[in-house]
Amino acid sequence: MITEKNFSLNSEYDAVLIGAGIMSATLALLISEVFPEINILVIEKLSTSAQESTGAFNNAGTGHAANCELNYTPLDENNLIDIKKALLINNYFEESLNIWAYLYERDQINIKKFLTFVPHISFVNNVEDVAFLKKRYELMKKCREFKDMEFTTSSEEISNWSPLIIKDRDKKQKIAATRIKRGTDINFEALAREYFKYLSTKSNVEISFNTNLLDLKRIKNHKWELFVNKDGNKKILKANFVFIGAGGKTINLLQKSNIPESKNYGGFPVSGKWLISENQELNLKHHAKVYSKAPIGSPPMSVPHLDSRWIDGKKYLLFGPFAGFTTKFLKKGSYFDLFDSFQKDNLLPIFDVGLKNFELIKYLALQSTKNHSSRIKDLQEIMPSAFKDDWYLKNAGQRVQIIKKTKSGGALKFGTEIVNSYDGSLFALLGASPGASTAVNIMLKVLKKSIFYKENKAALDEKINKLIPLNNSLLNSNDLEIIKRRNNDILGFHQ
Ligand SMILES: Cc1cc2nc3c(=O)[nH]c(=O)nc-3n(C[C@H](O)[C@H](O)[C@H](O)COP(=O)(O)OP(=O)(O)OC[C@H]3O[C@@H](n4cnc5c(N)ncnc54)[C@H](O)[C@@H]3O)c2cc1C
Repeated sequence: MITEKNFSLNSEYDAVLIGAGIMSATLALLISEVFPEINILVIEKLSTSAQESTGAFNNAGTGHAANCELNYTPLDENNLIDIKKALLINNYFEESLNIWAYLYERDQINIKKFLTFVPHISFVNNVEDVAFLKKRYELMKKCREFKDMEFTTSSEEISNWSPLIIKDRDKKQKIAATRIKRGTDINFEALAREYFKYLSTKSNVEISFNTNLLDLKRIKNHKWELFVNKDGNKKILKANFVFIGAGGKTINLLQKSNIPESKNYGGFPVSGKWLISENQELNLKHHAKVYSKAPIGSPPMSVPHLDSRWIDGKKYLLFGPFAGFTTKFLKKGSYFDLFDSFQKDNLLPIFDVGLKNFELIKYLALQSTKNHSSRIKDLQEIMPSAFKDDWYLKNAGQRVQIIKKTKSGGALKFGTEIVNSYDGSLFALLGASPGASTAVNIMLKVLKKSIFYKENKAALDEKINKLIPLNNSLLNSNDLEIIKRRNNDILGFHQ
């Protein structure tokens, strides 16, 4: 159980982290491991942790290591497959595995609560995509990160890997698949809970639920004053360092900070829905995460996938996401969130993005009007034998994509971005992808730019390196093999 400790009016903290999702949980963990003397307060407006994007059913739970997500290997301007992003994401995810192994070895978290190894498969079913997948495989296989990738065009072999993809499929279709056995399903809600459970045993970390950040302003000596509402009572806190990890709502809070860096951003909300199966007989027949290709004109995060999920001891099948549009920035947010984020500095970029992305808006509108039968039709592209009565619809989490001011107007970004004040006293995390899987890498970047890190860098690097040896090594270094083997041994992966 996560224990909550009360804090008093006008309290002062070294670090205040806003939101109890996976990002703040990871940052609180890293700060407390590296700087045990720093006192940290995490505030969360809901009554418990990880109920927004980090919630188990609010995301797909894929441990993104770029094993199967075709949108991480796009075609460049010369029509060549670019695998740079895939290599980076793979290394970032290894950092996450590494820190989990470190904490599990010391009995500080229980990996069985959140981590399941499951093969990651990419599947395509037309001539053009088969050629793409083969080329992609040939490129990736050469890299240490993806050397265990398998490729096949044999329907029999794909059926062995994942029978539900082949059952009732038209035999005339050209098909191909790749597989990496060392994939994962992660319950990020349970992971955040494990982090907070461990953090609540430390005397320098406090967590306060039902505590809403209303406003914040810079005061003298690089300090911040935070105006919060706790159980209906207004309080003021002071902090030397603030991290805004408020998910979709981060953009609004960042704007309230008034730092010049906040002026360049706006948000574009995209909601999501899953088809879920709780039919255990069916669910036991699928043991994989199968990612396909996004339909032409759709945004990168809408790549359809059929996932095995393990949530609080029960197995589910999940298919989606189906995108939609709402003006809320959080699932439990307000319909005014989008309008509240309009400011004189970001109006032009927002309208420019609206005009330039008419196809995306059309796609979102079409997705929103789908009924159960047409969603099942989409599912049947991956799983031809899908039967409508086995599946029901569930809302996923809310993503707020970044709109960034450019010289010519605005650009829509699908990644994540850290925005910080010049002095390293305030940080905010915008965007959603590759998200929770790479939280360790993203939060290390925050830590290394923060005010805490400026003095005594060498000693602190040594500490961080103990936690995550991969962080200072280069992509494709020999260390990667050793670290992977060690992580496999501790986390229990057997090829
Ligand atoms: C449909 C979908 C699928 C996804 N799939 C994957 C996936 O397969 N793999 C992956 O790695 N990532 C995935 N992601 C991304 C991932 O879920 C997010 O990147 C991650 O959960 C973000 O965590 P967070 O802590 O930043 O935000 P959140 O989990 O949203 O947490 C923010 C917290 O801040 C609180 N808060 C907000 N405002 C305030 C305030 N004013 N005061 C106090 N508290 C506040 C909220 O209540 C919430 O608890 C997916 C996301 C979506 C939406």
